[in-house]
Amino acid sequence: MSASAAPVPSEFNNENLEPMFSAEQIQTRIAELGAEIARDYAGRNPLLLGVLKGAFIFLSDLMRAIDMRVGVEFMAISSYGESTRSSGEVKIVKDLDVPIEGRDILIVEDIVDTGLTLSYLMANLHSRGASSVKLAALLNKQERRLREVPIDYLGFTIPDAFVVGYGLDFAERYRNLPYIAIIKDPTRD
Ligand code: IMP
Repeated sequence: MSASAAPVPSEFNNENLEPMFSAEQIQTRIAELGAEIARDYAGRNPLLLGVLKGAFIFLSDLMRAIDMRVGVEFMAISSYGESTRSSGEVKIVKDLDVPIEGRDILIVEDIVDTGLTLSYLMANLHSRGASSVKLAALLNKQERRLREVPIDYLGFTIPDAFVVGYGLDFAERYRNLPYIAIIKDPTRD
């Protein structure tokens, strides 16, 4: 490095972020959830279904906390935009590559907000003949719910605030934060 190089500003110690859950708190909770899931699915071979992109970090830690045989697949879903959002219409951007008839599906999601994405996805997976469909979500914003969705394995309930980190983004930024934080001022860079 040349002597004149400017210091690289830290993304992780950004003063526009208000920490909510530390990396340690997240790992402690995930270890508990993983043990619970392994107990509940004993003797079966569940398929963990990660919802891209937000859930990929949670999924990668959660599956290493589940000490049993599991499969893993991914789907990507997007809503059609604000105007049709309340209708619950969503679009499958990346579909499953394997049949799921007769499988025990455990959806792994970063956050349940309005519940529109999850209620669509759960109905869709049932219609493909899955023998069970359950949900593991790291975060729950209960106050924002429009469609009720049962969360079988929940990390934390949070207030109605926009959070980032640990896979969650704000305009594709902050997914790589090792912790979860609230953005203090979303208009600031
Ligand atoms: P729902 O259909 O409203 O429940 O939307 C859930 C999706 O919205 C999540 O999978 C996230 O991608 C996104 N989302 C909702 N709240 C937040 C947030 O606070 N931070 C980042 N993404 C969020």
